[in-house]
Amino acid sequence: MAVRANYIAGMLEELAPRSLAEEWDNVGWQVGDSQAEVSAVLVALDPSPAALAQAKTVGAELMITHHPLIFRPLKRLRLDIPAEALIAQFLAAKVGVYTLHTNLDNSPQGTSAVLARKLGLVETTVLSPSKRQQLYKLVTFVPPAHIEAVRRAVTDAGAGWIGKYSHCTFQTAGTGTFLPQEGTTPFIGEIGRLEYTDELRLETIVPAERLGQVVEALQAAHPYEEVAYDVYPLVQKGQAYGLGCLGLLPEVKPLADFAQQVKTALSLSALAVVGEEDKPIGKVAVCGGSGSSKVHQASSAGADVLVTGDVKYHDAQDAALLGLALIDAGHAGTENPLIFMLADYLTRRLKRHDVTVHTYCAPDIFRLI
Ligand SMILES: [Zn+2]
Repeated sequence: MAVRANYIAGMLEELAPRSLAEEWDNVGWQVGDSQAEVSAVLVALDPSPAALAQAKTVGAELMITHHPLIFRPLKRLRLDIPAEALIAQFLAAKVGVYTLHTNLDNSPQGTSAVLARKLGLVETTVLSPSKRQQLYKLVTFVPPAHIEAVRRAVTDAGAGWIGKYSHCTFQTAGTGTFLPQEGTTPFIGEIGRLEYTDELRLETIVPAERLGQVVEALQAAHPYEEVAYDVYPLVQKGQAYGLGCLGLLPEVKPLADFAQQVKTALSLSALAVVGEEDKPIGKVAVCGGSGSSKVHQASSAGADVLVTGDVKYHDAQDAALLGLALIDAGHAGTENPLIFMLADYLTRRLKRHDVTVHTYCAPDIFRLI
């Protein structure tokens, strides 16, 4: 069974909430009908004419891209301006575009985490944390016979994670009171009589991006007509969000060997490298896309090398002065791995639906001659 485009957008929102995007960015829906039926999806780095041709070939009604189709606010749509004509072509072909850009870059499962995994890094952390996850305490009151169903519903919806422990909750027994008014159909008690009933106070922790789904799951699983629950903002924060990733190689190796490893892992024909070939590389910073502004942060974090794309000449000079090796593996080269991660994620999430997921990898615009 095909699904509506918005259903797929909701799955992507769980992976990279729009709240993680930079203020200047334009993420989410770019063009299209969020209610359209989707039977095939194309995942691409750019909403390019070539990717649109591929979408038409495979019959994709929806394209998921990393880079936005509409970046600056539009004041008109002219067919004699190539970038604007491209938007019209997507509309004419009825191919919707949904973008995950800096929200995916800032996500702990996003652009740089995928690159770090591709390069075999272990013990990874965020290179440049800019935000921390907002956490809430959810408290509800449940009749004992329904406690397991409610606990299961809220924790399956994403509540109760503390580090690598899931399904963390706490419960205490007590007595609830309520007086059903005219027009109610109480699960326990009767209209006009003050009821005293055994209840369990169930509490758990919920990250901000899961709060809506958890409250919905609570209300669906709880037997009461009116579910009593409280949501408290917490002072302590959850996991870090931000650009780049820092990690370790399982064993130290010379820069020349590590550069070869990067080339093979990313299927590239060439790389630009700054640093001595025999420099030992153990701690690695990566930033998918355009990350040469992270040279100083990578150096102060103790990285031996920074792997990124779009390296500017003067940033390369800074790296050399700091004694930080630098590998420019290209913007598309360092971001293409996330296309496969997104495709895998959607394939897994859509496995009960009849939706095919295709990938389109951006060829590098720059050719080596
Ligand atoms: Zn990019």
